Amino acid sequence: MKEKAAVATTELRERCRAAGLSFTHQRLVIYQELMAMGDHPAPEDVYERVRRQIPSLSLATVYNNIKIFVEHGLLREVSVHHGSLRLENNLEPHHHLVCTQCKAIEDLSEDDFEPIRLKKSLPKGFSVHRFTVEVLGLCRKCAAANRH
Ligand SMILES: [Zn+2]
Ligand SMILES: [Zn+2]
Repeated sequence: MKEKAAVATTELRERCRAAGLSFTHQRLVIYQELMAMGDHPAPEDVYERVRRQIPSLSLATVYNNIKIFVEHGLLREVSVHHGSLRLENNLEPHHHLVCTQCKAIEDLSEDDFEPIRLKKSLPKGFSVHRFTVEVLGLCRKCAAANRH
């Protein structure tokens, strides 16, 4: 799992203010841990890490704060149909490589694709927010395991 640079306190404070959220130490720890994790973490993974810093924190609280972050656009859900909530901390536009066996999710840059556009118009009234492509298959580990 690749680690990313910690989000600066001032940066989160700014994002909270822009979203109309109150800035708390709890939120800072949850957000920083989340943004530092690679591989589209599940809330349970975030909880495991946050708990090391704030042992009194409950999973429900972590869930609630994550939901608030998602609702206010500070982070996104990877996809609504994976059966479990997986969080997106890469805020750049990108696509996904999904392993159908172990559910690993990797980012694919927009540059890996031809520009995506619609050939004909969508059903009336649908307003497009973004395009996201999921390439489904087996990751190297799962493909190798299946061969044995
Ligand atoms: Zn896999
Ligand atoms: Zn992603």
